[in-house]
Amino acid sequence: MKKSFSKIGIVLRFSMSITLLFAYSGLTFSLAYWLLNWFYDNYEVDGSPYIRQLINWGLGIVFMFLSIALFGLIARPRQRAIWLEVIAAIRRMAKGDFNVTIKMDKYQGQVGQFIESINDMASELKQVERLRQEFISNVSHEIQSPLTSIRGFASTLQREGLSLEEQRHYLSIIEKETTRLSKISDNLLKLTTLESEQQELDAHSYRLDQQLESIVLACEPQWLEKELELELELPETEITANEGMLSQVWVNLIHNAIKFTPDHGNVKVMLSQTEHHVKVRIEDSGIGISSEDQQRIFERFYKGDKQRTRTAEGSGLGLSIVKKIIELHKGEIVVESRLGEGSTFEVFLPK
Ligand code: ADP
Repeated sequence: MKKSFSKIGIVLRFSMSITLLFAYSGLTFSLAYWLLNWFYDNYEVDGSPYIRQLINWGLGIVFMFLSIALFGLIARPRQRAIWLEVIAAIRRMAKGDFNVTIKMDKYQGQVGQFIESINDMASELKQVERLRQEFISNVSHEIQSPLTSIRGFASTLQREGLSLEEQRHYLSIIEKETTRLSKISDNLLKLTTLESEQQELDAHSYRLDQQLESIVLACEPQWLEKELELELELPETEITANEGMLSQVWVNLIHNAIKFTPDHGNVKVMLSQTEHHVKVRIEDSGIGISSEDQQRIFERFYKGDKQRTRTAEGSGLGLSIVKKIIELHKGEIVVESRLGEGSTFEVFLPK
């Protein structure tokens, strides 16, 4: 449909140009005709009609070319000014200054479209630059706090007279913080790999129910420690996907469900199918997520309300990894939650 519209556009533009050309040549030829007639009348020149016609024709062509050249001479400085402005804008962008907006009001047609795309490019690059700086500041912030803590406890350990128990306690904190640092770097690496590659999914067919069951079993120490009730509804389901990547999705979602559910709560993991999708539902009776937080939890480094989640450590990268993997599988993730009542994450994957 779009294609046929553009073809009609080309034909229309072509016929308009031809009409304009005819009208314009009519004008210059008439001018030549009037001038010549005036000249013949005033200077009483006689000549054969054939020669007159020829001279009229030649003069008409000369007028036409002269006027086009004159128009070019007038329009050229304006065009030059446009290109100089565009080149200056591109040079500024090349140097990293994306606060570039070329005023559009004086340009129309294709030049206008060209300037519009340069302005769009500048604002996209500005956005990317903002995200990059935000990312660097988030990474530094996340790394800074475990490092400060490690430095503090390492210097405390150098004090004399510490009991063996105190030494063990400080060392265990240092170990925990180091593990946290290594987890952050591992997650960052995963996220950048996922984001940089427009990767072909290395997908194969496997049993999703078995994968979910083994991940829940692997988390047993965590949910047993909190005395959580784990409910599984996992009918036999075959799926074609990247097994390793999806394993990361379930680990992150199930770990969160356990982490944000207080002792004696419950967590359900359910698997079902619709006509076109396989649906995995992970439900917990935990602290819940406020509606403002629900809008942002999939952003990199976003951590929910610090007051409520202060006991649970994390870097806010888990759900962004989850989202990215699901996007790569052309699936969707939906969250539903009420503060104090619990949260439900539903993942839809195409069959
Ligand atoms: P984190 O490493 O902080 O857990 P995530 O990206 O996995 O990072 O989660 C981001 C935020 O989303 C968490 O800080 C938490 O506030 C919220 N969140 C995620 N899952 C749950 C859940 N099941 N219950 C309550 N809050 C959750």
